[in-house]
Amino acid sequence: MKPYEPVIGLEVHAQLLTQTKIFCECPTAFGAPPNNQICPVCTGQPGALPVLNRTAVEYAIRAGLALNCRIAATSVFARKNYFYPDLPKGYQISQYDRPLCQEG
Ligand SMILES: [Zn+2]
Repeated sequence: MKPYEPVIGLEVHAQLLTQTKIFCECPTAFGAPPNNQICPVCTGQPGALPVLNRTAVEYAIRAGLALNCRIAATSVFARKNYFYPDLPKGYQISQYDRPLCQEG
């Protein structure tokens, strides 16, 4: 029997304590009325481009360092298009082949 090497991948979801969302300047205040913390970017309006939140990147690097990850000098976000009932804009911004932190 061939020896096998277990390879385990984790997808971790965390809510960072930033003042604004990760790809726009909308606030993230808990308890705000529905549809008050939105803008053309986070609602996926045509032509509205995301801008990455610097604090979110800093927090992600801190988490990566705590988990003994290799921190990439260059990282890429990708737009993943798919239909989901609670995702009316039709895409999710995600990391795929060039994540910020890996091998931790
Ligand atoms: Zn927004």
